[in-house]
Amino acid sequence: MIDLRSDTVTKPSPGMLDAMLHAQVGDDVFGEDPTVNELQDRCAELFGMQAGLFCASGTLANQIAIKVHTQPLEEIIAHKLSHINNYEVGGHAFHSGVSLKLTEGARGIITKEEVINNINPDYDWLPVTRMVWLENTCNKAGGSCFTMEQLKEIHYVCQVSHLRLHMDGARIFNALQAKEQDSKAVGACFDSISFCFSKGLGTPVGSMLVGSKEFIRRARRIRKVMGGGMRQAGYLAAAAIYALDHNIERLDEDHKRAKVIEAALQKAPFVKEIYPAETNILMFELIEECKAKDFLAELAKHNIKAIQLGPNHVRMVTHLDITEEMVNELLQVLEHIGIHWRDQANMDLIA
Ligand SMILES: *Cc1c(COP(=O)(O)O)cnc(C)c1O
Repeated sequence: MIDLRSDTVTKPSPGMLDAMLHAQVGDDVFGEDPTVNELQDRCAELFGMQAGLFCASGTLANQIAIKVHTQPLEEIIAHKLSHINNYEVGGHAFHSGVSLKLTEGARGIITKEEVINNINPDYDWLPVTRMVWLENTCNKAGGSCFTMEQLKEIHYVCQVSHLRLHMDGARIFNALQAKEQDSKAVGACFDSISFCFSKGLGTPVGSMLVGSKEFIRRARRIRKVMGGGMRQAGYLAAAAIYALDHNIERLDEDHKRAKVIEAALQKAPFVKEIYPAETNILMFELIEECKAKDFLAELAKHNIKAIQLGPNHVRMVTHLDITEEMVNELLQVLEHIGIHWRDQANMDLIA
C-alpha cells in the first residue's frame, strides 16, 4: 500500500515506540509529568517563547489560541483556504463567538496590504478586528510558505494596529526546512504558534501551543474546560521529543520526493494545473473530463491512495513512511494511466 492521502497516516517507528516505552511520567493535570514539561520547555525555547502547552490535536491548540486571544463579537483576519475556515467545524464561532474576515490571495498567502485593508473601522455594526491568522505551510494551497520578509511586514502591521498574530504552523518544520528559516526569528514575529507532531514528524498523537507565560497560563484553563487535560501524557510527549531529535532533518527527503512527483505530474496528459510543490504537499487539478474520483479509483487498482479535495482536485502528501521505491512505483503507475488516457482519447476521436 502506498498511502499518499496525508502525512498523518504514519505509524510510530520502533525507535519512537522504544522512547515511549521508557518515558518518565506523572500526572500532567498537576503539572507533574517530567516528559511533558521537558517537551513544553523545549518547544517554547525553540521558537524563543516563554512557555508551551501540549495538546491532543492541532485543532485543540488552534481553538484554545482563538479563545485566549479574543472576546465574542471580535474578528480574525484569515485566508479562505485556512484550516480554521475549512476543517475545524466552525469552532471559532462555537467556542469563541468570533467571525472570520476571509482573504483570497494566491497560494494561501496574506499580504500586509490585505491585513491593513481588512481591519474594520470602529462602527458599532462591525465586529472588532482583534487578530491575524497565518497558516504556514498552507495545506489547502499545496504546502505554500511565507517568506521571512512577509512575516516581518505583517508582524509590524499587527504591532502598530494592536492586533494579535497567530501562526497555525501544523507543518512549520516543513516551512523552516524548505525556506531555511530560523525558528527563533520566525517565533519573534508571533504572539502564539501552534504546530503538530502527528503530521510530518511522525508521532501517533500530539500538538503544541507556544506563547507568553500569561498566554499559556490562560490556555491551560481553556484546555481543561474543553476536556483536554491529560494525565500520564509523557508517553505521547516522549514520541514528540523523539520526533524533534530524529525526524526534522529528514523532511528534505519528503520535499525532494514531492518535487519528483511534481515533475511526473507536469508531463501527465490528464493534469491541468499543479500548485508549485514548495514542501511535502502536491495539490493538482485534473483536466475537466478527468474526474478526481475516477483518477483515485484508477490509483486504487494499483494499491495507491491519494485524497480528493474537489471534483477535479487531488492532493498527495509525501511523508516518513513513503520510500523512494514507492515513489518510483507511483511514477510507473502515473505513466501507465497517462498512456491509457491518451489511447482512450484517441479512440474517442476516431469514434
Ligand atoms: C492538520 C492541521 C491542523 C490540525 O489538525 P488535527 O487533525 O486537529 O491535529 C491544523 N492546521 C492545519 C493547517 C493542519 O494541516
